[in-house]
Amino acid sequence: MASLTFYGGVNEIGGNKILLEHKGTKIFLDFGKNFNRENQYFDFPLVQPFFIPDLKKIKALPDIKGLYRNDSEKTDIDAVLISHPHVDHYGYIPLLHENVEIHLGEATKEIIQIRNETYLKNWQRKMDHLKFKTFKTGDQIQIKDISFKPIHVDHSVPGSYGFIIYVGEKTLAYTGDLRAHGYKKKLTEDFVDALKKENIDIMLCEGTNIKPEDEDTFLRYFEYLFRKRIGEEAPKRIRKFCKTEEAVRKEITNVVKDMKGLVIVEANAADVDRMRSLHQAAEANNRDFLLCPRQAYLISELNSRTDIKDLPETRNICVILNRIKDRSSEIEGVETFKKWRHEFQRSLIDTCGERVFWGPEGRAEIRANPDKYLICTDNATTMMLELWEGEHFPCNFILSKSEPFSEEMVINFDKLLHWLALYGIKEYYQIHVSGHCERKDLEYIIKACDPEVLIPIHTQHPEMFRNLVKVKKIEIPIFEGKVEI
Ligand SMILES: [Zn+2]
Repeated sequence: MASLTFYGGVNEIGGNKILLEHKGTKIFLDFGKNFNRENQYFDFPLVQPFFIPDLKKIKALPDIKGLYRNDSEKTDIDAVLISHPHVDHYGYIPLLHENVEIHLGEATKEIIQIRNETYLKNWQRKMDHLKFKTFKTGDQIQIKDISFKPIHVDHSVPGSYGFIIYVGEKTLAYTGDLRAHGYKKKLTEDFVDALKKENIDIMLCEGTNIKPEDEDTFLRYFEYLFRKRIGEEAPKRIRKFCKTEEAVRKEITNVVKDMKGLVIVEANAADVDRMRSLHQAAEANNRDFLLCPRQAYLISELNSRTDIKDLPETRNICVILNRIKDRSSEIEGVETFKKWRHEFQRSLIDTCGERVFWGPEGRAEIRANPDKYLICTDNATTMMLELWEGEHFPCNFILSKSEPFSEEMVINFDKLLHWLALYGIKEYYQIHVSGHCERKDLEYIIKACDPEVLIPIHTQHPEMFRNLVKVKKIEIPIFEGKVEI
């Protein structure tokens, strides 16, 4: 008899931690950070976890003996499989004991390490003790009584996999996060082809985009309140609907064509496909492509450390450095170029050489020649704060990620809207396509898989799967609940 126990990713998007047990073998499918739960109990920087036990208290981490760093007893958990390099799927692995093997794709490992290098080291990011074992798509890997086959899928970050898992007589499919409308949709087709060849008993399927049509009413209400507060100055959102990443590239290219002045785009920190689309849109409009340090470092390191194709070439990207105080200066408020910067930024300065914009002069150049540049950043609010000198210059904004879907995100969005209003931006575009399958693609994948039992995960509306597709059985998991398979 085998079983699945759900420690995250149930009735919520992200935080996947699913324990699969068979005979004496125990493996976790993903070990993601649970942002929702942490936000419910903590408030950075005033209320934050001190160490691992605090995360166990709030059940962000399962209370399993020996599983964590510094635990003295031995754990019976053999391994963790990581589906892709998004924090809500791998974020708690630094806390694991060195005896737990971490299986993940080669690019997945590099992306996790590159991203980790861009943050200050602390107990939640220490990774030197981890035992990584890398796989390639199609490999078959045996961990005692369980074996699994990773197959690449398309998602908004490279190094994404779904798994087919063999547990005694039973065969499981785990989708991870996936979509069928990106540049690499062929990868998802490969996964679906592999599913068709198997007799899948249990399918663990993501459902990020399975939600009621009117779910974003709270955001509409927030926008209404914002307009009431700010009045006519409130920036208006123009939404361009796109069905594919290619459509996003075309739409942004066209929109930028008509824009006078600087273009600032906010995109997710690891959305490599979007950075590719934006780079092409910048090139088509004869604009230099400027990235914030974290995104620039990801692209330049991926170019040198992985064989991922079609990335913007490192020599074609510029970086705009954020402000860091020169602590050796006797005058207050002076910025530093290299000294006092994080190690990753110093190495980026060496890599980009002439193509580094920094300090009052660098920003003055952007304000003086705003038509020459397109800036991509994961934090437009900070970018706008730093670029602003009190005098208006022509500037446009494109939101190229999903709109806020939690209170926390709405609070940040509120600040961004204030900055847009301060810049005199009357309207801005939202041009985006999801990193996850749309309804009809998910329906197709589930039908192709044709499982005996379907278990919806990574969704706020698992019950909606009942109307999505006809399968023999739908099992809606509960937090910490065990499903015998
Ligand atoms: Zn993801």
